[in-house]
Amino acid sequence: MPVTLTIEKRDAKNNFIPIWSTTIDPKSRIVNPSVLKSPFKTVTIVENGKASDHVDIVILGDGYTAGEMDKFHNDVATLTAELFNVEPFKSRKSDFNVRAVETPSASSGVNKPHPGVFNRTPLSMSYGAFDSERYALTYDNRTVRDVAATVPYDYMYILINERTYGGGGIYNLYSTVAADNKFSPYIFVHEFGHSFAALADEYYTSDVSYQTPEITVEPWEPNVTALFDPAHLKWKDIVTPGTPIPTPWVKTEFDNFSYDIQKERRALRAANVPETEMEQLFEREKQTSLAMFEKSQYKDATGAFEGGNYFQFGIYRSAQDCIMFTRNKQEFCPACRKAISEVIDLYSE
Ligand SMILES: [Zn+2]
Repeated sequence: MPVTLTIEKRDAKNNFIPIWSTTIDPKSRIVNPSVLKSPFKTVTIVENGKASDHVDIVILGDGYTAGEMDKFHNDVATLTAELFNVEPFKSRKSDFNVRAVETPSASSGVNKPHPGVFNRTPLSMSYGAFDSERYALTYDNRTVRDVAATVPYDYMYILINERTYGGGGIYNLYSTVAADNKFSPYIFVHEFGHSFAALADEYYTSDVSYQTPEITVEPWEPNVTALFDPAHLKWKDIVTPGTPIPTPWVKTEFDNFSYDIQKERRALRAANVPETEMEQLFEREKQTSLAMFEKSQYKDATGAFEGGNYFQFGIYRSAQDCIMFTRNKQEFCPACRKAISEVIDLYSE
């Protein structure tokens, strides 16, 4: 069946305005219908039914040698289990299929320009995207798509055989994660939130490679708001009754602490210390902020908590904590859970 592809751009009022459109007919002679004969081996991790009415996830691996394929299978199984341990994925697991495709590398590990470790791998995964040391992406879209097309898929994840903290997630493109870090389970679920449900980052104290514009329009992501109109809060149907909007929380204390941690983080990376030291810093950050959050009166409420989407002020999130905000808990806030469920509904019957 022909489909219409439309590219839309946001205007000053945040309305999506079509700027270009075309019809794609799969039966057109300019579409090559010959079946892709993939040379790659595949593994099925979760199988619940037809691709047409399930969410199909394909997991690729980069920087794994042929001798490390058992490790790849293990990493895929461990991280997939993490995702299905977090709501709403947990209760919607029967709506998913998960398959993996093997692309063995000649050597172990991927490209890491910041510490001066250079590698060529089949999928060209590399740290240092946009010169951010933890941002790991590949720009070789053609290769990645050909490999992924070995199996039916809607969403793609690329595991990298590395210990160094890192990953990335771009809406409707793919997510990536370093498989061997202490915080890999967190990164895996967090980045999937970006690529699967267009979730915004809810954090704002750490360095990012984006320039944040002035807040003039409501952000379009489902889990953050500029709260221009509190009476029409984006997630007002799930706010806990009796919760003030905006919602008080231990913000000043958290901000002071968190900006200090980020200073330490930059110093550790600059000194190129072993990864265990970075993991220890993140663990200390986690334990301290968990204790801090316990003191908030509205710690379990759904409301509008200031700080998010790389802004310390003027942007609000739905709960005090969320996996899009901190590494504290493997849990999405109510606004994130709602957005993820809506995407699952699009694919499942
Ligand atoms: Zn959230």
